[in-house]
Amino acid sequence: MATGGGWAPARSVERHGAPPPRGGGGGGTRSKSVAPGPRRPSPSPARSRPAPDNGGSSDSCRVRVSVRLRPKNSEDLAHGSDFDSCVELQPESKRLKLKKNNWSCESYKFDEVFSENASQKRVYEVVAKPVVESVLEGYNGTVMAYGQTGTGKTYTVGQLGKDDPSERGIMVRALEHILSSMSFETDRVAISYLQLYLESVQDLLAPEKTNIPIVEDAKTGDVSLPGAAVVEIKDLEHVFHLLQIGEANRHAANTKMNTESSRSHAILIIHLQRSSRIKEENSSLSNDTHNIFPDDLPLVLKSKLLIVDLAGSERIDKSGSEGHMIEEAKFINLSLTSLGKCINALAENSPHIPTRDSKLTRILRDSFGGTSRTSLVVTIGPSSRHYSETSSTIMFGQRAMKVVNTIKLKEEADYEILYKKMEREVDQLTSEMERQQKLIKSEKMQLDKKFKESERSFHDLRMTSNIRIENLEKEKCQLESTVKTLMRDLEEEKGQKNLLSEQIAELEKLLNKNKQQQLENLSRTKILTDTTKEHEKEMEELLRQLQEERHCSSSLKDRMSVLQQELCDAQSSAQLQESMARELEKKLTKVTEELTSQVQSLKEKISGLISEKEVIYEELKSTQEKVQQEMWQRQGLEDQIRRLERSTSDNYAEESKTSYGMVRSGSGLGNAAFVSKSGKIREALSGQRGTISKIFEEVGLPNVLALLKSEDLDVQIHAVKVVANLAAEDINQERIVEEGGLDALLSVLETSENTTIHRVTAGAVANLAMNGSNQGVIMNKGGARLLANVSSKTEDPQTLRMVAGAIANLCGNEKLHLMLKQDGGIKALLGMVRSGHADVIAQIARGIANFAKCESRVISQGHRKGRSLLIEDGVLTWMVANSTRFSASTRRHIELAFCHLAQNEDNTCDIIASGGIKELLRISRESPRDDTRNLAKKALDSNPAFLREIQ
Ligand code: ADP
Ligand code: MG
Repeated sequence: MATGGGWAPARSVERHGAPPPRGGGGGGTRSKSVAPGPRRPSPSPARSRPAPDNGGSSDSCRVRVSVRLRPKNSEDLAHGSDFDSCVELQPESKRLKLKKNNWSCESYKFDEVFSENASQKRVYEVVAKPVVESVLEGYNGTVMAYGQTGTGKTYTVGQLGKDDPSERGIMVRALEHILSSMSFETDRVAISYLQLYLESVQDLLAPEKTNIPIVEDAKTGDVSLPGAAVVEIKDLEHVFHLLQIGEANRHAANTKMNTESSRSHAILIIHLQRSSRIKEENSSLSNDTHNIFPDDLPLVLKSKLLIVDLAGSERIDKSGSEGHMIEEAKFINLSLTSLGKCINALAENSPHIPTRDSKLTRILRDSFGGTSRTSLVVTIGPSSRHYSETSSTIMFGQRAMKVVNTIKLKEEADYEILYKKMEREVDQLTSEMERQQKLIKSEKMQLDKKFKESERSFHDLRMTSNIRIENLEKEKCQLESTVKTLMRDLEEEKGQKNLLSEQIAELEKLLNKNKQQQLENLSRTKILTDTTKEHEKEMEELLRQLQEERHCSSSLKDRMSVLQQELCDAQSSAQLQESMARELEKKLTKVTEELTSQVQSLKEKISGLISEKEVIYEELKSTQEKVQQEMWQRQGLEDQIRRLERSTSDNYAEESKTSYGMVRSGSGLGNAAFVSKSGKIREALSGQRGTISKIFEEVGLPNVLALLKSEDLDVQIHAVKVVANLAAEDINQERIVEEGGLDALLSVLETSENTTIHRVTAGAVANLAMNGSNQGVIMNKGGARLLANVSSKTEDPQTLRMVAGAIANLCGNEKLHLMLKQDGGIKALLGMVRSGHADVIAQIARGIANFAKCESRVISQGHRKGRSLLIEDGVLTWMVANSTRFSASTRRHIELAFCHLAQNEDNTCDIIASGGIKELLRISRESPRDDTRNLAKKALDSNPAFLREIQ
């Protein structure tokens, strides 16, 4: 069964412009001329054109076959001399003589014979160039090498000659030719490089692709290998690169399969696409073509060039290879045998061409008997040892020469460009249409709007005109009725007018008559008028009187009714009062009786009281006598005091300790020793104090305070002493200040130069400073500053003790701390340390403890912040340095003060800097008082900085 397509024999040469081969099989050759078979149906939609006559040659469509003789190689030379050559070429007549032996020789004619000296260039120009030119014009082409292994197929077709251009084979030259002839702007060239081995198509440019299927288009008959890589070529360097890759892959594949390249077919497919315009060649087109494509349609010419390096044509046992033998032999033979069979069938014009028997024949379907221009080069060696292979090769070539192809031009519309163009046009039209639609829409909208507006205005107009018509009609009616009324009125008026004119006439007559009567009546009327007026007046008077009478009578009536009512009430209340009076009479009698008895008893009491009064009077007299006696006693005592004071002036220090009482407030600190020391004097003086109090009661505070300003120093000193003593008593402290005692004392302190005055006054101030409300007054009056001033001027320990005591008392008031510091109180307090006297230092320690304790409390309550006011004046440093130097009670005060300072975190740095940690540790362990130890521990435990210092 015929397969159709390319392998169908060309039966009608005349009809298809393919005349019989030149020479009709050639004289003396065994070839014979065969009439070409029927033409393959033209594929659609591609358009076919008959091939141009190639230089007027009439056999342009026959498969052209050349023979190439390889030069002798070393093997040939080793096996014999020139005589051994079985081939003789006759290039001038394009003939080849094959000597079977010395007496038998056959001659064959070919399209070209190439001797062993033929250059690669010439071989290309004769064998391939016409095919390549045809391909460039848009026809398919095939160039193929057939021959025994080692005869130069690969050399002829596939030699790269990268370094030596003269060595380049057909593949390189063909691509070089195409690249130089095409336009890169409009044309494209691409290649696929394949190997066919054991009936499997493998991609030499992408070796992972094996078993690539061969696809035939049922409509066009086109054969393609869509699985194969198609690489577009830009230049010759790229060509070399790709062919080298192909060569390497072919070698690698053969090594892997344990075979040689000689047993595989290498197929290079060059795809060429060139653009052309149908207009240019309009004249050469048939009417049918005009109907298919419009005049300015962009067209492309698509053509394909196959360059095939076939496997060795020798029999397997000759090739000397081993392994895979049977399988290989079967398949290699299959493809080549199949090719041979197809050629035979075509040559013999057989109705059945077995194209589908092998993959090679399917791929080459178009090359023999198809639409391709085909050129075959058969390669032979000179050695007679391979006579039979050479002979069979020559016979193959001879048969191939009989195959006639009908070459066709394939043009296709460039649908890509066409599509793009159409798309552009469609886009333009669409956008134009949209624009128009939009325009129409907006116009329509505007018209609609206008229409609606006019409709609305029309409606309005109609309405207003209707209303106007109605109004006009109404007006018309009204006017008509008005006219009617007016007419009626007019008529009536006319009638009246007539009537009136008649009446006027009558009246005129009457008037004349009346005129005469009037004159008569005028005098009468006057008299009448006067009389009437008088009567009227009288009438008026009478009326008025009547009115008054009426008024009077009505008010009298009212009054009478009121009186009647009152009378009624009075009668009833008189009855009530009568009954009450009777009751009261009864009560009165009773009360009178009671009172009489009381008066009696009172009289008795009064007489008792009178006698009592007499007794009391007697008592009073005796008391007055007693008072007189006490007065005398007091004067005696005063004298006694003066004497005593004078006598005890040496022991004054001790005396003042008691007399001025300020130490008494010191929480029992400091005076125990003194008490035991001066017990007797104290007893005596406490008696004196009682006496002084008595005197003070008698003399009065203002008089005593007045004595403070006495010119007499003695009197002044005594007065100060009296005041100091009085100030020692709680009950007097506020009163002394209220009555100006403090002012007087401070003025004495400021003005006096006397040490005793200083000492006693300071004591008095110290006593007054025990009272909380006095402390503020003392400060406000500059007491602290004065005390500090005194402390700086004296070295007398007793004076200093008094001053220190006074300041210590002030230290106990946290509200005054800042002022105390600013007035130099703290500095003065610490300054008195210089005296070194235990009592003074005891007071200083007490003051500091008072201060620290109160300050700590204020800070812990959050009323104040910052470091202690004591630190700046050096108190902390002194405490750390001297805490262990003094008596136990003083130490306790210092320790307590220090522990209070340690509670304030803002003092941390100063405490650490002054070496206070050690002191704090000591106190926490050694202090005799529990509360102080606990305070020290608390400070140490709660302050991380202290803890770090300890570590
Ligand atoms: P084939 O492909 O047919 O098996 P090759 O092309 O591989 O044979 O040729 C075999 C050897 O002979 C190579 O070394 C090649 O270079 C050399 N050869 C073949 N033909 C020619 C020639 N015409 N001129 C020079 N050397 C040739
Ligand atoms: Mg080869």
